[in-house]
Amino acid sequence: MKMNDLIHIRRAFHQIPELGFNEFKTQQLLLDTISNMEQTRLQIKTWKTAVFVRVEGRQDYTIAYRADMDGLPITEETGYSFASKHEGAMHACGHDFHMTIALGLLDHFASHEPECHLLFIFQPAEEGPGGAKPIIEADVLGAWQPDEIYALHIDPNLPVGSIATKPGLLFANTSELFIDFQGKGGHAAYPHTANDMVVACAHFVTQVQTVVARNIDPLDSAVVTLGVIAGGTKQNVIAATARLEGTIRTLSMASMEVVKSRLEAIAAGIEASFACKIAIDYGSNYCEVYNDPELAEAFAAFSKTRKGITFVEAEEAMTGEDFGYFLKQYPGVMFWLGVDSPYGLHDSRLQPSEEAIGIAIEHMVAFLSAKKPR
Ligand SMILES: [Zn+2]
Ligand SMILES: [Zn+2]
Repeated sequence: MKMNDLIHIRRAFHQIPELGFNEFKTQQLLLDTISNMEQTRLQIKTWKTAVFVRVEGRQDYTIAYRADMDGLPITEETGYSFASKHEGAMHACGHDFHMTIALGLLDHFASHEPECHLLFIFQPAEEGPGGAKPIIEADVLGAWQPDEIYALHIDPNLPVGSIATKPGLLFANTSELFIDFQGKGGHAAYPHTANDMVVACAHFVTQVQTVVARNIDPLDSAVVTLGVIAGGTKQNVIAATARLEGTIRTLSMASMEVVKSRLEAIAAGIEASFACKIAIDYGSNYCEVYNDPELAEAFAAFSKTRKGITFVEAEEAMTGEDFGYFLKQYPGVMFWLGVDSPYGLHDSRLQPSEEAIGIAIEHMVAFLSAKKPR
């Protein structure tokens, strides 16, 4: 595929962002694009909105490459001529880039026999409810079990031409957080007859601030962020309900358990002191992204030899990624690809540089061509 075709495909994906497990048009566009490639070495399988493509190689060793497919419920503000046509949805996390790069790689190896078998995984629902875990649990890959797995994520903070990763922990454990308060409403002038959930909620929010500060080892970081607070219906009515939404991020599974048990203890205390009911729902949980140390070192060493690539030693980040579930199952590496955007991931103005698409394809074609079984 020529660079122009790839840019065209990226822009086509960009116009049809779809949310988790609703990537129907996206799946069709993937299948249509793949059907125009050399077919002799390819085997294609779909599951829900996912697409899997196996490329027969010379050696009986399988290397998987994963690209996520979903967009976000964000209204685009890039001003692009090829902006999202799906109102209220946007590819604001670069998954349009991820798919395009994977297609570029796939196209190359469809017409150039790879050394090892390759398995391209186009995975739905990364942003939620999570697509990697169900693919593994349903054993969708069956006989196509990878020996190694790779994936990239665009990084708006890095200049084009840079690649960053590190051995071991790359991304944190994450959990969503939804907390519902149920009390008794009433007239604003008769507080003694009601049970005010705005006040209970305010106490909860304040107490939660001590969890990270007082319960987590300072050398083992955690984050508890409550991003949404909602409650009540009218200025002169005591609120019968309130709701908080947030996220938990930790570097270790043990800290995740500590945070959750502290939140539950605080909730029990507020329930007792305000005579209300509090329900905590953790929504989707993503486990940490842990790079196989040996493979990450090898990938870094290879990257450092490549002209035009600046290799950067990545730092651990508190972002979440469901690629972590694949890395629990198969050794592999996730890395950042510099795309130099003034606006970050999940920003309605994210503008990754399309120049990075060709750079990533060239880099991974070289890497996968040189790759030998361990
Ligand atoms: Zn994202
Ligand atoms: Zn993403």
